[in-house]
Amino acid sequence: MADASLTWLGHASFRLDTPGGKRVYVDPWFDNPKCPDSEKDPDRCDVIAVTHGHSDHTGSTVELTKKLGPVPIVALVELKGWLKGQGAQTDDMPGPNKGGTVEAEGIKFTLTNAFHSSAADDGTYLGEATGIVVELENGTKIYFAGDTCVFGDMQLIGRIYSPDVAVLPIGGHFTMDPREAGVALELLGTKRCIPYHYGTFPLLAGTPAALREQAPGVEVIELQPGETTTV
Ligand SMILES: [Zn+2]
Repeated sequence: MADASLTWLGHASFRLDTPGGKRVYVDPWFDNPKCPDSEKDPDRCDVIAVTHGHSDHTGSTVELTKKLGPVPIVALVELKGWLKGQGAQTDDMPGPNKGGTVEAEGIKFTLTNAFHSSAADDGTYLGEATGIVVELENGTKIYFAGDTCVFGDMQLIGRIYSPDVAVLPIGGHFTMDPREAGVALELLGTKRCIPYHYGTFPLLAGTPAALREQAPGVEVIELQPGETTTV
């Protein structure tokens, strides 16, 4: 089986091309200021995973499913229901909640805890924010922390899922910064990290260089928007 390819689309958006040939989008927001033009109008999408209800994460989900759908959506039960109410073309399976694992297109998704808020722009309650552990067809596990501060139970995520790669926010202000992300990596025990949720706006000031200082022994993979790495 081929390796998986993970492409950063700026901010919190990723395109994940799996060893089984599936294309997964995580928090697709193609209107983010760093998203490369070449990525803004995808011609295929097999699964969309969304960590929480803020519009910089739900982003382009509804329009993507309208264009290419129906597309399976993995998101917390309240959030998935709301996305359907917004016109998303998806399956009838209710969204999971934290601790549950669901399978879509042969890929396993587990929602984890995250400490953050989650509401639509108009204040509609969309459940709680989550992280997502994705287990690919070849057993590779990627932990997308979503928007969160560091928390002690990241240790449990490390113990139960042993992620091969941790995708962590480092921008600060709305999420953890490099100092907290360094502790997160310690708690997770993960030796490879892809930082994200930084550099989109001046407010998100954390940098991969600052994370490296906080996380000795961890390979920090610094991607430019549009750049792909193998996981
Ligand atoms: Zn965010």
